[in-house]
Amino acid sequence: MVVFVMIDGMRPDAMTATPCPNLQALIARGASTMQAQSVMPSITLPCHTSLFHSVPPTRHGITSNYFIPMARPLPGLIEVARAAGKKSAFVHNWEPLRDMARPEQLSYAWCHEPPLDPSYDDEMHAEALRVVKSNRYDFVFVYYGSVDTAGHAYGWMEPGYLGQLSHVDSLFGELLAALPSDTHLIVQADHGGHDRTHGTDMPEDMNIPWIAVGPTVKQGYTIQRAISLIDTTPTLARMLGIAPHEEWEGTCVDEMFVD
Ligand SMILES: [Zn+2]
Repeated sequence: MVVFVMIDGMRPDAMTATPCPNLQALIARGASTMQAQSVMPSITLPCHTSLFHSVPPTRHGITSNYFIPMARPLPGLIEVARAAGKKSAFVHNWEPLRDMARPEQLSYAWCHEPPLDPSYDDEMHAEALRVVKSNRYDFVFVYYGSVDTAGHAYGWMEPGYLGQLSHVDSLFGELLAALPSDTHLIVQADHGGHDRTHGTDMPEDMNIPWIAVGPTVKQGYTIQRAISLIDTTPTLARMLGIAPHEEWEGTCVDEMFVD
């Protein structure tokens, strides 16, 4: 199984500014960089579209959180995985992410947007636990939205934001404990933030953590190359054992794999 965890709006420096024992333990047993880069505009839907389709916003044309069909569509990770016979599942709590897979391509999708309070992720997390424990899917996408929500409510790096990240780290620890030992996993953010917003090319918005673990991934390894959001899908494809699509512009992070 390959699991991809998104922690929306998580800044790399927040992971050391507040207790995140589960994320820190993951760094110790995997390959990581705290200098991966978002795309411009550093906004959630453009970022996720770039991530799942391995092209920059200039290619896919989605520049706000309002989805529009691509002028020149290309297959993303989910479509390529489906064509290769892989079963994918999405578990999330931000509805526009449904468009990160075309209709009929997912084997399972769960979405519910609860009230915007500190328990925002808890219901989604319970469902994510159920889905990974079922072991029915080759690929599972799990999206935690509450850290970003706290950033907008309290300000990035403010106590309310940091406290929410610690809460999500504890949820993530439960997810980690539920995964089979041969799971490949990537955890990252889509963008950071500053004040109560994000979307600019400031380092506070653009720098994101990127962590990978799995039986074929080096342990305690600091990734040397530059990584962009568009490199995640080719890397997930390698973890799934499928070939990248020719129109994808990102590249697999080959250096982090054991030969
Ligand atoms: Zn976001």
